[in-house]
Amino acid sequence: MAWDGFGQRKPAGAELAAPSEAFARTCPFSPAAADEDAIAAVRFPGQSADPRLGRAVANYVGHVEEADWRASGSSGGMVSWVAAELLRRGEIDGVLHVAPADREADGAFFRYRISRSQEAILGGAKSRYYPVDLAAVLQEVRAVPGRYAVIGIPCFIKAVNLLRAEDPVIAERITHLLGLFCGHMKSARFVDSFAWQLGADPGEVRAVEYRRKDPGRPANWYTAHLTLADGSARWQDWWHLADGDWGAGYFQNSACNFCDDVVAETADISFGDAWVEPYSSDGRGTNVVVVRSPELHSVVEDAIARGRLALHQVDADFIVNTQAAGFRQRREGLAYRLTWARRGIRPRKRVAPGKAGLPWRRRLVYRFRAGISWGSHRMAAAAERLHRPQLYVRWAKASLGLYGALTYSRGRLGKLLDRLDRSKS
Ligand SMILES: Cc1cc2nc3c(=O)[nH]c(=O)nc-3n(C[C@H](O)[C@H](O)[C@H](O)COP(=O)(O)OP(=O)(O)OC[C@H]3O[C@@H](n4cnc5c(N)ncnc54)[C@H](O)[C@@H]3O)c2cc1C
Repeated sequence: MAWDGFGQRKPAGAELAAPSEAFARTCPFSPAAADEDAIAAVRFPGQSADPRLGRAVANYVGHVEEADWRASGSSGGMVSWVAAELLRRGEIDGVLHVAPADREADGAFFRYRISRSQEAILGGAKSRYYPVDLAAVLQEVRAVPGRYAVIGIPCFIKAVNLLRAEDPVIAERITHLLGLFCGHMKSARFVDSFAWQLGADPGEVRAVEYRRKDPGRPANWYTAHLTLADGSARWQDWWHLADGDWGAGYFQNSACNFCDDVVAETADISFGDAWVEPYSSDGRGTNVVVVRSPELHSVVEDAIARGRLALHQVDADFIVNTQAAGFRQRREGLAYRLTWARRGIRPRKRVAPGKAGLPWRRRLVYRFRAGISWGSHRMAAAAERLHRPQLYVRWAKASLGLYGALTYSRGRLGKLLDRLDRSKS
């Protein structure tokens, strides 16, 4: 894996020229790979399936009650707690997860590492919307016998499942998969953009926090926080940033346009944020959890009974509502995107191509969002090359204005579009 010119991790090396069949079967976006339904049917044969969440034994909303897990996590602290609990029970020897890296030594702000203690797991808590890859830690798993859990976004969890089917050593050693719900992955340039907008030199940034927690403010008011080489800090709420509207898709990896798994359907257990009231106003953070493996179901139920976790069961619709925008983008939006002409590999998805009945304005939203993702990579690269950050920032502000008019009826243009909408219906 190597960095491309847009600050994204890409496969590199001789094998790409003539990929083997096994290689094609392990790429999560390859049409030659098994899809999420097929993988989950083998892994969780007894569970009933929901077309949006996949197979599940139980769904929950809540948070970790004991110790500092909730305060240390981005959401309710459940991901780190489950990983640490598996370690405590002796079910695993290490956890593959994403922790801060040494930017100067590693050339990246974050990387996958293997944590083997509760303290190390806690030290890696929080969400990183930053490109990472599993290559080095998978080498370590091959080299050091033991049982491991992997924490990852849906495509990474799918990739590990696919690799397990090809590689008996990985299959034996990676025993647990902990999934994160995912809206999309950002490129590393998102950090440069934070720096540009906060008046800092991107080369001086030493540490990044995407979601600084403040229990006194709503959980969905994200604050980006940078630490600079001289020890000073800069921070800003996402919505004051030109590219801080998550739904607009700035710096989104293009593969995410062809993803149909919002909730890591092939993981033993998956976690997201409870983006519905009253939880989104609770700055302490609240998880939604989908449990698929009977083993993790009993771990969670036991901890609830002992008061270690404050979770209660919810139905599939509740979970889906917390991710309404993500499901629109990966169902209705994906169906539409699949009708667009494209060169190269034809993706094979669980959503059929289609645009019948999709209103003109929704079509425009999906087109515009894809255009923002495409344009953000190129405008930021040009701004960096020309040493003119404002080139990108002005473009991002202008596109956000148009996106806001189209999507949320903001401003005069938004009202005009509303009138046009009414005249057409
Ligand atoms: C790219 C991305 C997109 C996301 N999109 C959504 C979304 O649309 N909706 C939603 O509800 N939730 C989304 N999440 C998940 C959400 O941000 C929280 O991670 C989740 O709710 C868990 O919170 P927690 O407090 O339980 O986890 P914590 O206790 O904070 O632990 C998080 C764990 O995840 C690991 N981790 C962090 N970043 C990564 C990464 N990039 N890849 C693999 N492991 C990582 C950390 O090392 C840590 O072990 C996303 C996460 C990522 C990384």
